[in-house]
Formats: sequence, structure tokens, C-alpha cells
Amino acid sequence: MQKIIFPMLLLGLLACSKSDDTSSTTTPTTTGSVDITSVVKAKFASGVTVTVSGDNLVLKCDGRPNHKTPYWGAGNALYEPFPSGHAANPNTMVAQNYTMTIPAKPAAATTHEETSLGAIGLAITGAPIFNNNEGGNVALNAGTITSFDGAGAHPAQAGDYHYHVTGTYTTTDDANLVGFLRDGFPLYGRKDKDGTYPSNLDAYNGHTAATNEFPNGIYHYHTRNENYLNTGYYILKSGSYYGTKGTFTQ
Ligand SMILES: [Zn+2]
Ligand SMILES: [Zn+2]
Repeated sequence: MQKIIFPMLLLGLLACSKSDDTSSTTTPTTTGSVDITSVVKAKFASGVTVTVSGDNLVLKCDGRPNHKTPYWGAGNALYEPFPSGHAANPNTMVAQNYTMTIPAKPAAATTHEETSLGAIGLAITGAPIFNNNEGGNVALNAGTITSFDGAGAHPAQAGDYHYHVTGTYTTTDDANLVGFLRDGFPLYGRKDKDGTYPSNLDAYNGHTAATNEFPNGIYHYHTRNENYLNTGYYILKSGSYYGTKGTFTQ
């Protein structure tokens, strides 16, 4: 009997000692059990107000980022020039009146809705996250990409500034918390907190593992680790939501 029990105990100890890893050895956390409230309250820029409403968190902001971009306009304290080869699109960044409502305890959905045009989440900088498509629901192309500022963002026709891809101030090649999608799950950079690229991502480009903000583990998305059209940019999120999306109004 001892010969059977002892190796099992040893395996158990080994498994525990690896629980801080971000790899597939991490014990999966049941979705719907992790409360994101304290992280949401701590991590969003000061221009984003966060209130608790029943089982939901309500985030309000004007959608303009807390960082530099040429889209603030010359003369603004937060103005900076475009990256080389990039230039403004015809739109001007305008303050919006956003309200995003997300579950405090995000949970997996039974059917996974495709992300669509418009805001699919909010970055902690205070500006929305869009998917890999532009107006007309066509995939971003090289021409559109030249209108991105150093943050991988630009304003749409209504003046609604938004990110599609990686950039300064959000994530480049790191494990930064980018923001939260409308289903309440956090979105991270291309890496996990141990500095490696996760290898066990699901169809939604996510997995359950420890992060810097959620050391006990949470389901989270990662930025797609694919150099988009060889531009040096990486799509923040494409495809479907893992959970059920909340509302995002303006
Ligand atoms: Zn866009
Ligand atoms: Zn991860």
C-alpha cells in the first residue's frame, strides 16, 4: 500500500509547488468564482468611474485616453507626433459618454457570441478596445494601419478613439493588463507573468492561469501572438467572447 500512496502524495506535492506557474499545470479556476471588483477599481485611469450595481460593475468615461496621442491635437499637453510613416485619418477625437456594464464575477457562456464592430471592451487607459475589423466589417488593412498612433489607436467617424492593436501605453511584448472585455474577463499582452508566451490558449485566445493582478488565477484573454500583416502590430482581440457580453452604451 505504501508504495502506491507515497508516489501519489509526491505527485500532489509537485502539483502544488507548480501552482504559481502559468502553464497548463495550473489548477483551473471555475469561472464565475473570481470577483474582479477590486482590480477594476484599482487599475482603471482616474477618468474612469467604477460603481457597483448589484452583481455588475458600471464603468463610465469619456473614452479619451490618459496618454499621449497626436489625436489630442497640436498644442495639447498630451500631443505627440505620429510614428514614422503614419498620419491622421479624417476624424477628430471627441469626448464620448460611455457606460460599460460588466459582471463582477465573469463566467463562461454556453454559446460564445462573436465580437462585432464597435467597443468590445475598455482599456484601463479609458479608451475602448475594438476587434480586428474596421467600418464595413472588413479586416484591418495596411492603409488603415497607417492612421494608427503610437498606441495602435485612431478615432472613428463619431470621434470615438479606439485601440485595435498593440502599442505604447497598453502592451507591446509583455504581460501587461490591457483592460476588460464586455464579458468581464481581463485582456493581457502576449506574455504571461512568468515572461513566456502561453501555449495552451483556447479558441477565444484565452486560458485560466495566474496573472499579476489575479495571483490565484482567472480566465483571461491574451493579445494574439501573430505579427499582423508583418506590420509589427498584434491584434488585441478577434473572434468570439468567452463569456456573456454586457452592455456598452454611448
Ligand atoms: Zn478603427
Ligand atoms: Zn495567460
